Amino acid sequence: PVEPELEALQHADVAGLLPVPRAESDKYRRGVVGIAAGSARYPGAAVLAVSGALRGGAGAVRYVGPAGDAVIARFPETLVSDQGPKHAGRVQAWVVGPGAGDDAATVGEVLAADVPVLIDADGLRLAGAEAVRGRRAPTLMTPHAGEAAALLGVDRGEVEGARLAAVRELAGRYGATVLLKGSTTLVADSGGGAVRVNPTGTSWLATAGSGDVLSGLAGSLLAAGLSAVDAGSVGAYVHGLAGRLAADGAPVGAHDVAEAVPMAWRNVL
Ligand code: AMP
Ligand code: MG
Repeated sequence: PVEPELEALQHADVAGLLPVPRAESDKYRRGVVGIAAGSARYPGAAVLAVSGALRGGAGAVRYVGPAGDAVIARFPETLVSDQGPKHAGRVQAWVVGPGAGDDAATVGEVLAADVPVLIDADGLRLAGAEAVRGRRAPTLMTPHAGEAAALLGVDRGEVEGARLAAVRELAGRYGATVLLKGSTTLVADSGGGAVRVNPTGTSWLATAGSGDVLSGLAGSLLAAGLSAVDAGSVGAYVHGLAGRLAADGAPVGAHDVAEAVPMAWRNVL
């Protein structure tokens, strides 16, 4: 039999993968997710990534970067550190890149950590293929079509016209799991098996900051112990459902999507 190229993510599979704290759990056993994001220019990306991470199932969210004051003002439960990722203390998975500008040193420190890492936005540009390929722990990259095109050195239109080939090519080149965002989100492993397609979502998600919410959400799932392909595809599924519930046919901001994540989660269970 020919292996299918695409597999649609099923509701029941997602329900089985959502992390649920056990009776004996504490916040550390649930997982600590580190967010290295934001810059003086883009502090909001840090706030939005944290907003997704807080609703993604990890027991604690640790933030490192220049937007600590903005993060704390909005989410007082965040553990904020003014030191780099290397000195941040216990973290089970990192998210790096949203709104990060040109901070290559932070990206390098995160990639050197021996825990799962999600790379998004500016981080994608700053993470070299060799550094990613050399990692022992899993890596999940989450480009939109424009970012994927830049990594592949082609036009955006070429990626849009051949999304399946593009996501596979990137996964192979980087030896990483790649989640290609857009109207249909695809998740490919570097091993070359079937590519997962996310069936949820809405074009109302095409709004500034919505990808930052996804990065935190999926990063939190990584910290809770899901594999890169599961964290990416379950994150996209819940994010897409949250987008539908938040929008319900009307325009919304990315923070509305983050606030709808618990409702989406309950809808899956
Ligand atoms: P970003 O471009 O990084 O802000 O990410 C945008 C988010 O919105 C991703 O989760 C995309 O999959 C989603 N998105 C963007 N455009 C659409 C669309 N036309 N239909 C459905 N989802 C979309
Ligand atoms: Mg983005």
